[in-house]
Amino acid sequence: MIIAKEISKVKENVREWKKQGLSIGLVPTMGYLHEGHASLIKKAREENDRVIVSDFVNPIQFGPKEDLATYPRDFDADCRLCESIGADLIFNPEPCEMYEDDFHSYVGVNTLSEGLCGKSRPIHFNGVCTVVTKLFNITEADRAYFGQKDAQQLAIVRRMVRDLNYNIQIVGCPIIREADGLAKSSRNTYLSENERQKATILHKALEQGEKMVRDGETDANKIVKTVRDIIESEPLAKVDYVEIVDWNELQKVDKIDGPILMAVAVYIGKVRLIDNFIVENSIVIEMV
Ligand code: AMP
Repeated sequence: MIIAKEISKVKENVREWKKQGLSIGLVPTMGYLHEGHASLIKKAREENDRVIVSDFVNPIQFGPKEDLATYPRDFDADCRLCESIGADLIFNPEPCEMYEDDFHSYVGVNTLSEGLCGKSRPIHFNGVCTVVTKLFNITEADRAYFGQKDAQQLAIVRRMVRDLNYNIQIVGCPIIREADGLAKSSRNTYLSENERQKATILHKALEQGEKMVRDGETDANKIVKTVRDIIESEPLAKVDYVEIVDWNELQKVDKIDGPILMAVAVYIGKVRLIDNFIVENSIVIEMV
């Protein structure tokens, strides 16, 4: 597996692969890889001749009071995982390689970026869209893999690709969970043992929401209230948001009569966790 720290080294390899007519799959990550990331890399491995994993804690998607400095990192372990799955190249640039001192160009998707996580993280999705654009251009990937875990991100990247005519296919991948239902996340390592146990409340609450949808409930506010009440029954949990939005425009809905995303963001102690489910045609879907 090739380890590339420089953009030029990635481009050299991409040029060679393109010359040979090989397809390229890209998995953008911030590292500290777990089985959630591994599932994306495996899917990319199945569907492409060459697989690039980017491993970059992107500073411009963090707000000033967020966890950029403390975000967990273990590049050696990431390399071992990528190699074991058969990735061809891991791209691990320094921030100055991606953003020169006089960097001034940003990409953003209006409206879709404003609700849900965008409310408390106003610059986040512009940072995501900008780094993803750079990665698409550097890797010239045919396909890029994103997890439903970050459903708003997936919807925004899909819209950006459509709106701006990027020549890339976006592949959504299902949420990988711990045995007790907690969605896997690099940030789970911030949780104390007690918080880790209490964090299962997100999945438990969403399961109840899913059940209501499956049983035919179409009143979105009723489902939101039930899910919120379950989460708030846990004293350590503080709700940032619990919302049902339509899965295309990410706008709040009162009645479920099309594809919807039910998304939650909850502080367990000081750790902010997100989780969600998506319903299409009254079916809770595993793949998006
Ligand atoms: P991150 O390193 O957190 O930026 O995540 C990189 C990619 O992995 C994103 O597309 C995430 O949605 C995806 N991802 C993270 N956690 C999971 C999970 N538990 N299941 C599936 N995909 C995930």
